[in-house]
Amino acid sequence: MTLLQDRFQQVYDQIHLSEQICNRQGQVQLLAVSKTKPTDMIRDAWSCGQKHFGESYLQEAISKIQALHDLSDIHWHFIGPIQSNKTRDIAEHFEWVHSVDRLKIAQRLNDQRPELLPPLNICLQVNISGETSKSGVSLDELPQLVQAINQLPRLTLRGLMGIPAPESDPAQQRIPFRTLADALKSLNKQFSLDMDTLSMGMSDDLEAAIQEGSTMVRIGTALFGERDYAQKPSQNASSNQEKE
Ligand SMILES: *Cc1c(COP(=O)(O)O)cnc(C)c1O
Repeated sequence: MTLLQDRFQQVYDQIHLSEQICNRQGQVQLLAVSKTKPTDMIRDAWSCGQKHFGESYLQEAISKIQALHDLSDIHWHFIGPIQSNKTRDIAEHFEWVHSVDRLKIAQRLNDQRPELLPPLNICLQVNISGETSKSGVSLDELPQLVQAINQLPRLTLRGLMGIPAPESDPAQQRIPFRTLADALKSLNKQFSLDMDTLSMGMSDDLEAAIQEGSTMVRIGTALFGERDYAQKPSQNASSNQEKE
């Protein structure tokens, strides 16, 4: 087994064990977060059977998507902060966007989604840990945003995404995930929707996220190792926030 195969196996084992603990077998999808990682590594991961990849930095992502065009059945998810002048590239190159947090961005993605492609799958990024994160719509503003985005024909509203503040205690980790899961349930009820996606859980909190109902964990470090920030001198290693 290669190191990468070994890491994928470990993460799959971790996911399956967590699913079993809460009787949710087969309900959690793995999104491999490949930001800062070279295309060779993505190719290797694809050979291991991984087909869904998440990227945060648009220029880097597009050159990788183009370089990997020969891979069939590969699915690209945009998970990074979105600047409004970048929406066209996102609408043209991705199948999913997890980080929509305002109507203006959604409207642009809707308008710019190419006719020949199916509607873009959208998760709304919710700010579930107030002080620490700058991105994400607040829980208060979420219903209004859902209602508005639900009218846009070139977008399919799939669910919610959250990035809680880092927390090492497993019981504490579950609290913001529960908040997000409750929000999805009540929005589905309020607007008679059937949003099916809770994009939550990263390398350090996937078990807690799965126990609270995650349907998609976004895993980078546990699969690919520490990020290669040396390749991207303009990015601040402690934050992936981009300013508009
Ligand atoms: C980088 C990133 C991840 C992956 O985080 P790890 O801790 O490396 O697993 C997940 N989600 C988002 C939005 C990210 O930017």
